[in-house]
Amino acid sequence: MTETRKGICSLCRLGCELAIVTEDWRIKGVEYLKGSGLNDGRLCPRGNAAALYLDHPSRLTFPRREGHELRWRDAFDDLARVLKKSDSRSVAITYDANLTNEEYSLVWELAEKLNVENLASSYLEPEYYFTHSIPEVVGASLEDVRNTTIFFLVGDVFNQAPILSRHILETKYAKKSGRIYVVDSYVTHTASFADIFLRVAPGMEPLLLLALSGLVSGKEKEMVTEKSIVSSGVDEEALREVVRSLKGDEKKLVVVAAAFGRTGDPLVSSGSSQYLVTQLPGDSRFLPMAESFSSVGKVEFATVLEKILEGEVKVLINFGELFPHMYPQFHDALRTLSYFASTAVLRIHIDENWGLWLPTTLNLEKSGTVDTAFGTRTVSPIAEPYSGARSVEEIVQDLANALPLALTKTSARPVTRTIDVQLLRSRAERLSARKKNGFMLIGEKPAFLFRSFFEDQPQVKVNPSELKKIGVMRGEPVSVKTPCTKSELKVTVTERVPPGLCVVPVESPELRALFAHSVDEGVISFQPQVVELWKEKA
Ligand code: SF4
Repeated sequence: MTETRKGICSLCRLGCELAIVTEDWRIKGVEYLKGSGLNDGRLCPRGNAAALYLDHPSRLTFPRREGHELRWRDAFDDLARVLKKSDSRSVAITYDANLTNEEYSLVWELAEKLNVENLASSYLEPEYYFTHSIPEVVGASLEDVRNTTIFFLVGDVFNQAPILSRHILETKYAKKSGRIYVVDSYVTHTASFADIFLRVAPGMEPLLLLALSGLVSGKEKEMVTEKSIVSSGVDEEALREVVRSLKGDEKKLVVVAAAFGRTGDPLVSSGSSQYLVTQLPGDSRFLPMAESFSSVGKVEFATVLEKILEGEVKVLINFGELFPHMYPQFHDALRTLSYFASTAVLRIHIDENWGLWLPTTLNLEKSGTVDTAFGTRTVSPIAEPYSGARSVEEIVQDLANALPLALTKTSARPVTRTIDVQLLRSRAERLSARKKNGFMLIGEKPAFLFRSFFEDQPQVKVNPSELKKIGVMRGEPVSVKTPCTKSELKVTVTERVPPGLCVVPVESPELRALFAHSVDEGVISFQPQVVELWKEKA
């Protein structure tokens, strides 16, 4: 029997509509729903991979610990035993991506009932800081996208959200006065559509945004403008032209796509783009692009990490899909815990020798509500939960039963935290003081490399003029060494990347490990890195 279930793609926060076709319970593929939703039947590479993800041969089907399967009942007894005997101050509960709003609330309620104050988001992508907001900022609807005249795009928006690019380009070309300005550190796919491209030094986007805010509002001194312009490395003539244009009354939309290994100081990045929106004259809107928004916890993950390193937190339970395998930078710290448990979707993402792993469902298999870029949507399962996997809601509820604890499912949770503009300025000052000389490595997140499902051999992109300097031919392997690790990648060349810069995709833990993390007043960031590149001697 063939069945087609319609629903919402939850592999990023755009909320496109799609259908999954099953035949005799086997997933056959995705179906394109022409005439519905903002995507009108189109899907980006991530959406196209939905069927593959749902039916991935590596889906985790049993709880596992130290290389062995165990029964769900034994897993919950184990978790309950540890939680009962632990001081709540030594316990941390974290959550990353791929949870419904109801699941976030339930995890909050569990933490509250257990008196656990160490409750944090372990979704550590820079886009997490879109949960930190400037209250005056007005968000955008799809109608706003269609009515905008000036699109100000920060980062590789078209690559991260290909479905949105169609709406932006259609709107721009339908209007004579439509313009696109792009800020980035190399000529991305998005930048190739720019009327004016503002190239900045890697990670220095926030400085340019704050300088722009000062220039359009006349608050130059307040926003450290002169120093910011110099440090951002932007072409001043191009900047002046953009400022002239932004001072007009036309409707403007600021769209931001932050990326791991690319965005300098994610809090300043989020705050500076929002601040710019508040300083632009006329009707100006803000549209953050994200794979997942997560939500703020009682503390930031940096606090949990510090307590783990100090031995204060000894037990950590994580709910979600990405942590910790996408953050190899923290594996050593996590291994100092006396107990670690996490949900996981794929078996290839777990460590067979350590921790307790609980198979969980994808949002595509759940009911509930999710926050999308254009508002909250109700989701229903477009595929049956994978055999053996349970939703976070079921897992939290079963754990509560094992403790036992009564959960009411009525717990309210804060979703955002306010950004202080004074704080933005002082953090930006620190950013401008950072000198980054030498070969710089940045990350990119193209949709077609989603979760590395289709990656053959990891590549590093450089400018053609660098081949001689590195002593390598195009297509050959090159060693890439950052302060934290070393990797061997195939070198590819493109004029789009300026000399002195190299770019790697950041969808696999191996390449993400190239980026050392830094902690600055509670903000964890994975910023552009100084690297060495060379060809190994035969
Ligand atoms: S743009 Fe986002 S919501 Fe749309 S198909 Fe791609 S991943 Fe899914």
